Amino acid sequence: AASNRLDRFLARRLQRSLKQIRLDLVKGRVNVDNELCDDPSRLVNQFTQIDYDGLVLQNNQPIYILLHKPIGVVCATKDAQHKTVIDLIEHPQKNELHIVGRLDLNSSGLVLLTNDGRWSSALTDPKHKVNKVYEVEVEHPITEDYITAFAQGMYFEYENHITAPALLRILSVNKAQVVLTEGKYHQIKRMFGRFRNPVLKLHRVAIGNYTLPPDLKVGEWQLL
Ligand code: URA
Repeated sequence: AASNRLDRFLARRLQRSLKQIRLDLVKGRVNVDNELCDDPSRLVNQFTQIDYDGLVLQNNQPIYILLHKPIGVVCATKDAQHKTVIDLIEHPQKNELHIVGRLDLNSSGLVLLTNDGRWSSALTDPKHKVNKVYEVEVEHPITEDYITAFAQGMYFEYENHITAPALLRILSVNKAQVVLTEGKYHQIKRMFGRFRNPVLKLHRVAIGNYTLPPDLKVGEWQLL
């Protein structure tokens, strides 16, 4: 979440004028992160603890969760038909969470969840070129020309977008590792679709520096 000046935060929250708030600050009525603060321009965000006359006005903890998503669970916060990734998590603040880069219903693997919008933006903004690593199993053999096609990029008409260079490493006859730095709708399935090669299994193993821990079972999650 964006930063905001302390005086503006307090004025809005307490329904007082900026002038009154500055007097309150001078009088030492405000603590920021458990320390007296009299600076009206101090920058605060949604995770800054703010007390006024010893009363807690704001005390949100950032949450970072790493989940091993099973096939058949949907990456959404609510769904009428399927179990959602939120349904798998037991946490008092689970309803504050959003998903950092979704996986399709029939894909499995690493999903990150958080209530920290800055963190998720940094990981999902294509400008930052964060690597997303997938293991893919397809129906037909994968040949060397896939490597070039994935690296060159493909034109996606619906989005009017040329895919960013993607790395494809052949692991066996019909298995590959694919590294993307963006996440277009059904991107990997569509890229293999250009070769009329249906994706049978799609599993995400990493997002940037976060990797799926080998001991984290399908459907389990852990705090980062
Ligand atoms: N590409 C896909 O087609 N599906 C995913 O879930 C992720 C990448």
